[in-house]
Amino acid sequence: MVSAIILAAGSGSRMKSEKAKQYIEINGKPLLYYSLKVFDASVVDEIVLVTRGNDIDFVKEEIVEKYGFHKVRRVVAGGKERFESVNKGIKACDKRNKIIMIHDCARPCVTNRMILDSISGARRYKACTVAMPVKDTIKIVDDNEFGVETPDRRRVYQIQTPQTFDRELLLEAYERLRLSGDRDITDDTMIVERYMDVHSKMIEGSYENIKVTTPEDIRIAEMYLS
Ligand code: C5P
Repeated sequence: MVSAIILAAGSGSRMKSEKAKQYIEINGKPLLYYSLKVFDASVVDEIVLVTRGNDIDFVKEEIVEKYGFHKVRRVVAGGKERFESVNKGIKACDKRNKIIMIHDCARPCVTNRMILDSISGARRYKACTVAMPVKDTIKIVDDNEFGVETPDRRRVYQIQTPQTFDRELLLEAYERLRLSGDRDITDDTMIVERYMDVHSKMIEGSYENIKVTTPEDIRIAEMYLS
């Protein structure tokens, strides 16, 4: 049994828009709609949706009920940082579900194939993430923006979501994160790596599985989703 946490509690400040990013319309539907649609039609058993506290009623009425997403079991308030939102999502998941998927609603082009491959990956490896090899050469720079190192491009991946984990592993990793007091966290594979020494398996994502972050990304997402 699988729980999916869909994250929509960010402020989306890089979008520079009046409307919060998760509600910006793409081809006539809010950004959040697209991830919910794919997960709701997938094999996952429940969806826990994490939104900003003040948006809970709006999201329930204007998105979950309006579009009939029947797998959304709970809509809960997120936290200041992404990992705090994930933590609240984990607490709201059905404890009987052995696999937890975490997905950023900012990636509306997620597919059912990625969900199925991620679940298989988590069953086999306990931790996996959707990712793609980088296309560009990557530079590590010094404090003055001079290149100092060029990692082998074949070994550098850009990390996407969903990220999928064995429930017990993820819970323990989050407990150790809590005890550490660390806050420099950018995703969940980093948490299991740092606190559990578990290496996540890379599962093939897609170059179309973009993260809608800045205004020009909207046009690209519109094209992929049309
Ligand atoms: O801001 P960014 O696009 O990197 O956020 C990635 C995802 O995490 C988004 O779907 C956003 O809504 C979510 N998030 C969250 N709670 C936060 C920060 C981000 O749910 N405090």
